[in-house]
Amino acid sequence: MMSERDTPFAKIFNVRAEDYDSAPIDDLKLKGKPLNLMRQLGITTIGDLLRKSEDDLDRKLGYGVVTIGQTRNALAKYFELSDRVVFPDLDVNSDNRRVLQRMIEGNKLFVSHNRALCDVSLAKRQHTSVNGQHPYAIVITCSDSRVIPDAIFSAGIGELFVIRVAGNVLDNHQLGSIEYAFSHLDANLIIMLGHTKCGAIAAAQHPHGDDIYIKYIVDDIREAIGDECDDYKATILNVKHGVKIIEDSFHDHPDIEQGKLDVVGAVYDIETGIVEWL
Ligand SMILES: [Zn+2]
Repeated sequence: MMSERDTPFAKIFNVRAEDYDSAPIDDLKLKGKPLNLMRQLGITTIGDLLRKSEDDLDRKLGYGVVTIGQTRNALAKYFELSDRVVFPDLDVNSDNRRVLQRMIEGNKLFVSHNRALCDVSLAKRQHTSVNGQHPYAIVITCSDSRVIPDAIFSAGIGELFVIRVAGNVLDNHQLGSIEYAFSHLDANLIIMLGHTKCGAIAAAQHPHGDDIYIKYIVDDIREAIGDECDDYKATILNVKHGVKIIEDSFHDHPDIEQGKLDVVGAVYDIETGIVEWL
């Protein structure tokens, strides 16, 4: 059986951006009679092909080709595209800008497809079991069952190191998890992800007073949001508070090279699926 990465579709992804103009379209397994058509159009390399497509997303990303929207439609005329979009692998050497761009595009894909596009295949399980985990980002978010970080960013096994706790609050346990992920797994991008309609934020705004342990969470959130009554503004304040705690906790950590660790705040809308980056 042909694996996903052996398909013509996936083959496109294996061409690096800087090689587009030297990669001949003849190398691609073409469907029907597009080769002659492309030659008529003056297309001889993948670079030519992409310039003919309506969306220049791949160049913005600076690696591979991510066929979303117009690019996908343009390429679908020439290639037998599977329904699945495959992102190129990121590793510990990927810079944070590239990782963040991958997550932004992953979220767009999640929003546009209305379903998760995560690689949870047997092959991925086996690969990560043998080779260990090399997540490219750390995500701290709420335990709310409507917030699924891997789905939100179209990520699969071994891609995101996720820490979840109601209200995405931080104490030494969460900070220890973050420290582990950047010190031992080399993930250098931290996403503090709040979400709309968060019950923990509401509890902080309207405390019941009869809970035993919830108050520890609520107290932390109240410290972050003060007497802010607006749900959304309070959520943003809580995210920013979390970002500051992380930055203050690790700014002089011995395992972090100067300027290598980035902390980004974001809010996930549980209805639209869109992540707003703060
Ligand atoms: Zn929540």
